[in-house]
Amino acid sequence: MSSTSSAITPHKILSIALPTPLYRAFDYIYPINHKGNDIQPGQRVIVSFGRRTLTGIVLEIKSESDFPIAKLKPVTLLIDTHPILPPSIMSMAKWASQYYCHPIGEVLFAIIPTALRQGKAICIASTRRWSINKDRADKAELLIKTNAKKQSALYQALSHSSDGLLESTIRLLGYTSTHIKALKDKRLINEEELDALTAAATEYNISQPDWPLSEEQNTAVSTIGKHIGEYQGFLLQGVTGSGKTEVYMHLVDKVLQNNQQALILVPEISLTPQTLARFQNHFNCPIGTIHSGLSQSERLTNWELARQGAAKIIIGTRSAIFTPMKNLGCIIVDEEHDTSFKQQEGFRYSARDLAVARGHKEKCPVVLGSATPSFESINNAQCGKYKKISLPSRAGGATFPDIELLDIKSRPLEGGLSRPLIDSIKHHLDNKQQVIVYLNRRGFAPAIMCEDCGWLADCKHCDSRMTLHKHPAHLRCHHCDSRNAIPTSCPSCQSVNLKTLGTGTEKAEEILEARFPDTPIIRVDRDSTRKKSAMKNLVDEVNKGLPCILVGTQMLAKGHNFANVTLVAVVDADGGLFSADFRALEKTAQLLIQVAGRSGRGSKKGQVIIQTCHGDHPILQQIAKGNYQELAEDLLEERKDACLPPFAYMTLLKAENPYLSNATHLLEQAKQIAPHFQSSTSHPIEVLGPIPAAMSRKAGVHRSHLLFVAESRSALQRLTQQLCSWLNDNKWGKTRWMIDVDPTEVN
Ligand code: ADP
Ligand code: ZN
Ligand code: ZN
Repeated sequence: MSSTSSAITPHKILSIALPTPLYRAFDYIYPINHKGNDIQPGQRVIVSFGRRTLTGIVLEIKSESDFPIAKLKPVTLLIDTHPILPPSIMSMAKWASQYYCHPIGEVLFAIIPTALRQGKAICIASTRRWSINKDRADKAELLIKTNAKKQSALYQALSHSSDGLLESTIRLLGYTSTHIKALKDKRLINEEELDALTAAATEYNISQPDWPLSEEQNTAVSTIGKHIGEYQGFLLQGVTGSGKTEVYMHLVDKVLQNNQQALILVPEISLTPQTLARFQNHFNCPIGTIHSGLSQSERLTNWELARQGAAKIIIGTRSAIFTPMKNLGCIIVDEEHDTSFKQQEGFRYSARDLAVARGHKEKCPVVLGSATPSFESINNAQCGKYKKISLPSRAGGATFPDIELLDIKSRPLEGGLSRPLIDSIKHHLDNKQQVIVYLNRRGFAPAIMCEDCGWLADCKHCDSRMTLHKHPAHLRCHHCDSRNAIPTSCPSCQSVNLKTLGTGTEKAEEILEARFPDTPIIRVDRDSTRKKSAMKNLVDEVNKGLPCILVGTQMLAKGHNFANVTLVAVVDADGGLFSADFRALEKTAQLLIQVAGRSGRGSKKGQVIIQTCHGDHPILQQIAKGNYQELAEDLLEERKDACLPPFAYMTLLKAENPYLSNATHLLEQAKQIAPHFQSSTSHPIEVLGPIPAAMSRKAGVHRSHLLFVAESRSALQRLTQQLCSWLNDNKWGKTRWMIDVDPTEVN
C-alpha cells in the first residue's frame, strides 16, 4: 500500500481521560486508515503525555478540537478491540465526575480493576472446583471422630452443594489450602480444573430449602418483584432480625429466573463469611465478590464475569457499584444507613446514592434495606420518592429484646463496668447463654496520664491522645498510626505514677477474664481480626453455642446473627449524645439499635442493658422503647426547622496546609468569591466558616472547612462547579483543597 504522506491524513480526534488530577480530558489524533473496528468510547489507548507514557480511556470521538490539529499528538496504541466499559458505566462515571467535582480521569481509573489501569489485557483466571469423593463417603465418618474440626466442617460444606465448591469460595468461607490438601490426601475430595467462565455458568439451584417466608416477607418480595424491568426505589425498613436477608435472596431468585443479574452492596464490615455462606447455601452457584480483600487477578476475574453476564450475583462493598453488569436486574443496598457507603478520600462518592442513580439509568428496582434507615431515605420514603415496605416483627417467632437504661452516675465502676451489669452478665452465663459487651474504643485505654503533674501522652502529629495498647505493648495514635514505647516515668516530671484513663476493648477483656475465669472471652475489634481467617474462626467459635462473652467494637454491631446471645451490654452510650455534629444523634441511635438487635435473635428472649449518665435523654428514652421510626420523625422535624439535610443540601470545601493560616486564607478567598457564583437570589446559599476541623491538626497538617448550605440542590450544584473551576484556575502553593459534595461528616 502506498499512501503518499499527504498533509491531511484521514483522522479522528479522540477525547481521552488520563489518570491525572487535572479537571479535563485530553485530545489526541487517531488516524482512521487503521484496519479493524471503529473506535468507540470505553476503549483503552496508550498515549504519550509529557515525558510519560500513560494508559487512557476514550471518552468521545470528535471531528474537531479546541486545539490546533497540528499540535495534537497521535495515539500511540489502541489496547482494546472492544470497549472495556459499557455506555451505561461510562455515562455514570461522567455524571459522577461532574456531580462530585472530581476529575474524570481519576474517576474512571478509580472504578476499573488495578490490572486494567496498568494497561493489561482482560483475562479470566482458571479455577479449581472441589467436590466430595462419593466412593469414600464412608471413610468421612472417621474424620468427624478425629479432632480435625476444620477439615470436617469443610467436608460438610462440600457435601451440601451438589456440584462442589470453587476454590475461591472455599477460601472465602475461611478455609486454607492446608485444609483442602488434607482432605485431598485422604482422597475424600476430588478436584476439577475449570475456566472461571464455565464455572460461573454453572446452573444455579437452591440447595437448601429455606423456611417458608412469613406473610410480611412474601408481600415484600412480591411488591418489589412486580417492578423487575423498571426503576423503582424501595426502602425496606425491617427491624433487626426481621428476615431482610431472606427477602433479598427470594428477590434475587426472581431476578435470576428473569435471566438477569443482581448486584448487592454490603457495608465493609459485614461482608463476613457468615453472610456469604448464607447466600452460597441458598443459591449454590458461584457468587462474584468485589472487595478490598481480593487479589488483583481475582478481582479482575469477578469483574469480567459480571461484565460478560456469567456471574449472576455480585456481592461487594462500596466500589462494587461501578461493576459493569451485562443485564442488571436489581440493586440491593443492605444496611443502607452505613457510613462506609460514602468514600471519604479522593473521589468522594456515595455508593448508596449512585445505586439509585444507576437503577434509574439501567431500569431496575433498587432496594435500600435497614432496621435504622438514614434520615435521607426515611424522608425520601415520606415524600413518595421511594416505596416503603416494613417488616415490623422478627422472623421465626423471635421476640424483640427488652432495653434497659442503667444509670451509672453515682455507681463505682470497674474498668467502666458497673456491679449490676456484671451481675447480669453472670446471670446470662449461668443460664448457658452468650453475652455481647459493646464499647467503641479499641486498645487498652484511650489515654495515659501522670497523676502528679497531669501530663497526658499526646500524638506529636495530631490534636489527639495516644491510645495505650497491651497486645503488643505500645502507644498508638488512632488517627495517624504513629507509635511510641510506653513511658515508664512521666517525661515532664519523672514521676512514676502514671495511670490510664478510660476503657478500651483490651481492658474490658482483661477485667472480664478476671471476673469470669472459666468463660471464654472473645475480643472482636480491628486489632483482633487483622488476620484473614480470624473473623471466620471466631464466628465458628460463637456458633458452637457455648456460653461466652464477646467484647468488641462496632464490628459486633453489624450483620451478625448469633442465635444464643441473650444479653447485649453497652458500656457507655453517652459519647454521641452531645456532639457538635448534627448527625451525631442519628448515628448514635442507629448504632445502639443495631447493637441491641444482636440480642435474642434465637428462641430465647433477649435483654439489652445500656449504661448511661443521661438516662432521661429523650433519644435514649426512645431507643429504650425500640421506637426508631418515632425518634427519626422527631429529629427530622428538628432538622427541618434548622434547615439541615435532608431538607437542605451541603457542599464542604476543605483546605489543608502545615500552617492553619494558609488553609484559612484559601477558604476566605473562596468565601469572598462565592456570591459571584450565585445565579439567583431566590435560591440563597449560606456560607459557614472557615472554621478549623474538629481535629484541626492531623498527621502534621492543619485542616480547615468552609460549608455551603442551600435548599436548592441545583443552585448549590452550579455554585460548586464554578467554585471548583475557580479553585483550579488559581494557584494555592502548598495548600491542598478538596470538595466534598453531600458530606456525611462536616466536622
Ligand atoms: P435481618 O437481616 O433482618 O436482621 P435475617 O435475615 O438475618 O434478619 O434473619 C434473622 C433470622 O431469622 C435468621 O436466622 C434467619 O435465618 C431467620 N429467618 C428469616 N426468615 C425466616 C422465616 N420466614 N422463618 C423462620 N426464620 C426466618
Ligand atoms: Zn508528671
Ligand atoms: Zn497522630
